[in-house]
Amino acid sequence: MKRLFAVIGLGRFGYSVAESLVQKGCEVLAIDRDESKIQAISDIATFAIQCDVTDERTLKSVSTQNVDVAVVSIGENIEASIMIVQTLIEMGVKSIIAKAMTAIHGKIMSNLGVTEVIYPERDAAIRLAHRLASPKVLEYLELAPGYSVEEVVVPERFAGMSLEETEIRENHNLNVIGIKKQVNRMIRGQLKKEDAFNFNPSSGDRIEKGDVLVMIGKKHDLDLFSNSA
Ligand code: ATP
Repeated sequence: MKRLFAVIGLGRFGYSVAESLVQKGCEVLAIDRDESKIQAISDIATFAIQCDVTDERTLKSVSTQNVDVAVVSIGENIEASIMIVQTLIEMGVKSIIAKAMTAIHGKIMSNLGVTEVIYPERDAAIRLAHRLASPKVLEYLELAPGYSVEEVVVPERFAGMSLEETEIRENHNLNVIGIKKQVNRMIRGQLKKEDAFNFNPSSGDRIEKGDVLVMIGKKHDLDLFSNSA
């Protein structure tokens, strides 16, 4: 049986979450008090209900189906998001993800017992600043505080070397877990460039200019590496 996701609050963030879940084939119950927001999503969401869910009876009555995951995407009105989270917990919803605009809002959500608090604006700002400060880092993912996976363009000094010859592990304390390359392929008589991903590189594999290294390690070591590149 498909999991049912309730998305409460269809601002820009909530709408995008609901839309992406639908595109991934999930069942979505979309809720907002604003009729225009409900009209905008009614063609794609499995259920779209217009109501003010600060009143716990209303929320309980519209969520007659078992909600597996609830995304509470109300940033401006902290009181409303507290009331909604409390009702969802009372209803026994196991997984609740709450959007917060401020640290205080996030702390209240955590204290109430939500599964996860997300700060979309803060996270987007951190991501942008990271990209601007380290242009050689194409993508990064924080795994645990202080540790991440990053995609870094191969520094020129390593072009043509094997992974072993670069001594990245010894000198930078980082592990290369993948190499992204562009390779030439003959397709219907024409030479075309295609992306290739070596996801389990061995020490003898060579890296070339333009390749991208996928590396795991301490954030500090990754910063030193990408800034020295
Ligand atoms: P975004 O930044 O994602 O666009 P926002 O944080 O600026 O959103 P909010 O004021 O948090 O916007 O509201 C998000 C949505 O939640 C709005 O569409 C609003 O109508 C809806 N909403 C707010 N309070 C309630 C409520 N009590 N019941 C149902 N929907 C609500």
